[in-house]
Amino acid sequence: MSNKRVLSGMRPTGKLHLGNYVGALENWVRMQDEYDCFFFIADWHALTTDYADTSCVKENSIDVLLDWLAAGLHPEKCVMFIQSHVPAHAELHLLLSMITPLGWLERVPSYKEQKENIKEKDLGTYGFLGYPVLQSADILIYKADFVPVGEDQVAHIELTREVARRFNSLYAGPYASVSMISDLYLPGTNIPRGKEILPQPQSLLTPAPRLPGTDGRKMSKSYGNAIFLTDPEPVVRQKLKPMVTDPARIRRSDPGNPDLCPVGDLHKIFSPSETMAKVYEGCRSAGIGCIECKSWVADAIVKVLSPMQERRKKYEDCPRLAWDILEAGSSRARDVAGATMNEVRDAMSISLDYEPPKGSAK
Ligand code: SF4
Repeated sequence: MSNKRVLSGMRPTGKLHLGNYVGALENWVRMQDEYDCFFFIADWHALTTDYADTSCVKENSIDVLLDWLAAGLHPEKCVMFIQSHVPAHAELHLLLSMITPLGWLERVPSYKEQKENIKEKDLGTYGFLGYPVLQSADILIYKADFVPVGEDQVAHIELTREVARRFNSLYAGPYASVSMISDLYLPGTNIPRGKEILPQPQSLLTPAPRLPGTDGRKMSKSYGNAIFLTDPEPVVRQKLKPMVTDPARIRRSDPGNPDLCPVGDLHKIFSPSETMAKVYEGCRSAGIGCIECKSWVADAIVKVLSPMQERRKKYEDCPRLAWDILEAGSSRARDVAGATMNEVRDAMSISLDYEPPKGSAK
């Protein structure tokens, strides 16, 4: 395993679906063998949009954790924790919010986009505008080297890098707290001038295939077109039966094209190459019907979901086990975050240690 650190989080929106698995979780499971991974449930982030009804946040957090464990994240290979159990995130968020210009936040593309698209909630709040700063704190507090993101999140990581640069130049740069520029260390600390106290993370662009839902649109819980990681086999088959197909295939005898069919897209992600070959051949020659084709993709999906559901059962039967994993992970996260905060406070001259007044011997 590389000692490079990866940090990523998910909002607790309840049970995860195949789109979440293919878009992020599957990659996390791979990365836990390659990096020092910290994965967190971003419950405070959920409050930036769902502040008016917090009744499901905790339950949803547990559901997300169960899905992580089911998908194959392992507590001995990665740190899984919950954001609100590491209060240092809030402290760093506050300190970084002091130095983040408003304009940087107003320019974040998702800020405008979500404000325009989410009409049913009042997002004119301080918390919503500031959530990229909270996200920066989440990343910087663990000194993450990499953050796996999709294209749409790159702007957030760039903002995090800008915030880190500003922090470092204000509090640890060569001119920080200037008394004697020739001093090698920041006043009253062991921190060398010019040290990156908050290293700049890099985006790790992860290819996320677009996973269609049963109506052909992108799979999303809010569209009601999702196949959940917890769906039992009969439910998976039932959901796939009415799935939209290549519109050119109206009758059984019409040839179709898997490249223009959402079921074909699912095959490309989940089916082995032999099945894929049968799909191309059978669909283009009208040798197979769509019902048969869908049953093959259902087979492939069930093969992915079954071992997950088996693993999940252990934690469903004893939820305390899952909670203990979260607590142990949160404790480890508090240690790492606490060490960073000591450096941050030192650099800002607001350490918790007693310091005698200037000019006094004690
Ligand atoms: S045979 Fe399969 S790939 Fe071809 S149109 Fe029907 S469902 Fe789609």
